[in-house]
Amino acid sequence: MSRIISQAAIRGAHTYYTQAEQDLQQALATHGPEKELAFPNTAYYLPLILAMTGIEVKNLGDAQKALEMAKSLLRSVPADNLWLPYLGDTLDAGIATLICQEIIEALKYLAGILPEEPWLGFTNDAILRTQGIKLVDGRMPGFAACVGVLPTNEQAVELARAFQERNILVFMASNTKGHSMAEQLAEEGVEMNWDTFLVPYGKDTSAAVHSLNFAARAAMTFGGVKPGDLEAARKILLYNKERVQAFVLALGADFEPEQDSGQLITDEKYATAAGAINFGFPTVSNVAIPQILPRGICTYEHVVSGIPMDRIVNKAVEVRGLKLKITEIPIPVPYGAGFEGERVRKEQMHLQFGGKYSDAFELLRGRPMNEVEDGKIELFGPDIDEIEEGSALPMAVIVEVAGRNFKEDFESVLERRIHHFISCICGVFHMGQRDIPWIRISKDAFQKGFRLRHYGEVLVAKFHEEFSAIVDKIQVKIYTEEAKVAELLKKAKEVYYQRDERIMGMKDEDVDTFYSCILCQSYAPDHVCIVTPQRLGLCGAYTWFDCAASFEMDTHGPNRPVKKGQCSDPVNGIFLGINEYVLQASNGNLEQVSMYSIMVEPQTSCGCFEVIAALIPETNGIMLVDRDFQDITPIGMGFSTMAGEIGGGIQTPGFLGIGKLYITSEKFISAEGGIKRVVWMPQQLKEEIQERLNKRLEEIGEPEFLDKIATEKDATTTEELLEFMEKVGHPALEMEPIV
Ligand code: SF4
Ligand code: ZN
Repeated sequence: MSRIISQAAIRGAHTYYTQAEQDLQQALATHGPEKELAFPNTAYYLPLILAMTGIEVKNLGDAQKALEMAKSLLRSVPADNLWLPYLGDTLDAGIATLICQEIIEALKYLAGILPEEPWLGFTNDAILRTQGIKLVDGRMPGFAACVGVLPTNEQAVELARAFQERNILVFMASNTKGHSMAEQLAEEGVEMNWDTFLVPYGKDTSAAVHSLNFAARAAMTFGGVKPGDLEAARKILLYNKERVQAFVLALGADFEPEQDSGQLITDEKYATAAGAINFGFPTVSNVAIPQILPRGICTYEHVVSGIPMDRIVNKAVEVRGLKLKITEIPIPVPYGAGFEGERVRKEQMHLQFGGKYSDAFELLRGRPMNEVEDGKIELFGPDIDEIEEGSALPMAVIVEVAGRNFKEDFESVLERRIHHFISCICGVFHMGQRDIPWIRISKDAFQKGFRLRHYGEVLVAKFHEEFSAIVDKIQVKIYTEEAKVAELLKKAKEVYYQRDERIMGMKDEDVDTFYSCILCQSYAPDHVCIVTPQRLGLCGAYTWFDCAASFEMDTHGPNRPVKKGQCSDPVNGIFLGINEYVLQASNGNLEQVSMYSIMVEPQTSCGCFEVIAALIPETNGIMLVDRDFQDITPIGMGFSTMAGEIGGGIQTPGFLGIGKLYITSEKFISAEGGIKRVVWMPQQLKEEIQERLNKRLEEIGEPEFLDKIATEKDATTTEELLEFMEKVGHPALEMEPIV
């Protein structure tokens, strides 16, 4: 253990304590201890403090208590001649540092000091749910907390791109002598936000705590660890060590080399790194700071330094033990999940397809072996260098696959992957599927030589990579002539229609087997989805057919058939075969689960539900709220707060996580009377599902019911909601008591 590092980290912790103490005293003098202290839109108070101490900081007085905890963790700086066999004091100093940093950052919000471009500040719970989940389920292999600055802007861009290509999330904070990596990227016009995997927290080193309070919340949300005591804190740290693959890059560059270069990595940064080591996150640096090599808390080394810039990404990946699979795709632009959420704005666009600008569709079909020539990519019609910049072209993308084990049922599962594969191209934006895609290609990608052939190359490479078990050969045909596209579109629509008819026409009673999905157990270890023909998985991504196809593709995969067995309660939908399976798959935590009830033994929720259905006892009905709704619902909670309460794989009567399609199913909470129980939903959700909803209401002979469902325009509180319901004569008021 390096004494120099311990000294620096403990000194740094003392510095932070002094600053937090000063800032807090000042705030207390102005506002008093009752003054509310909070980050925006989180149910986790000051999350790092909650996770490490169990203290729910609601006001300045609570912050004082947390600060006292920090103080108790601080030892004096060890003398030069003291031999330190253990990391203990340094690690404690690290936790103390994080507590102080979180108070400092929260006080900024209280003082009205909000993050300015390019900085984003605290990550709210809504983003945590959509993005954090990718970290724990493996879609993102890890995150890199980059602290400081790089020698040149080019190196900063290179580093960012290298991580993006590896799907590694980049958190940025701090600066080196006033310069920072995020500012370097901003100067180079790099888009930074959650969608591009580049997240700039703040210019102060204390803003680095946001990456750790994000990690701590991931453990509480997805790992279902309830904060409270030391044991919980230990579990949260362990969860991170095992599941959240992260590391700190301490970056330094000397712009004024005549000054003392020893200050490139400051005491404050050492203290922050000590905090991260508690989470099992090692530090890698390009500066020759002292190293901590023996293994202990981290999976591998704790601090590795003096790594040249061109080797640092590989070194970091190696130290953290990340397993990365990178496929080389022969295209002239970078490729990786880091580019998945990237948008191409109108001004940056070379041309577009589909959307409301032209006809476009995507279709994947299985073909006999002899009709597919592997790797063949054909373009019929003009390429993107043959048309005027800024215009729109029609496009048909037809992917034909052949494989000894391929079946028609797999087509739609594979076809849905096109969106993901194409969005990962740097400079290509992709939205939608089937006959509603919208694609934009950026000027930048065009100038680098990207053409439609490359569009095909990506599909060929990715389908081979991910579906090698069922697909042997792939060929792609791209059409861009208007008349031809229109002609092919007609045929494609027939295929889509037939596929829909199949699942729509099926009833739960028609099958003796449902399917399970345990994909989300990677972060919610006890959660099981039971998918039936009339109830898809709560994430909205898995229908009964998809699960069946997925099981056939990989019998050891996340989906398997479960025999319904004897039905012990037809109203609630309780089946003995399902119960038996669920008991074992939930690690003994769930004894009984119903298919059609929100009140009686409802299905559990992991975290990725599209919609939450929640009981409003006063109204004798339930409300629906989706992820996109940002405001508070009539029950006084927002989506993310509720999600925090019901996620993690537990059964919560009165609450249900569901997929959007289930709302218009005949089996939608049929035990409680179905769709007529719905008293409130956000306007936008209502519009989104309107077509199907109308159809369903026609079926039950209540077409006028649509207007009886209130939205935020009609009611924002339960009182207003009740008033509205009485005014329109909502049927729930007359229905049997739900509780
Ligand atoms: Fe599977 Fe359910 Fe997770 Fe969707 S939410 S991936 S259906 S376990
Ligand atoms: Zn899930």
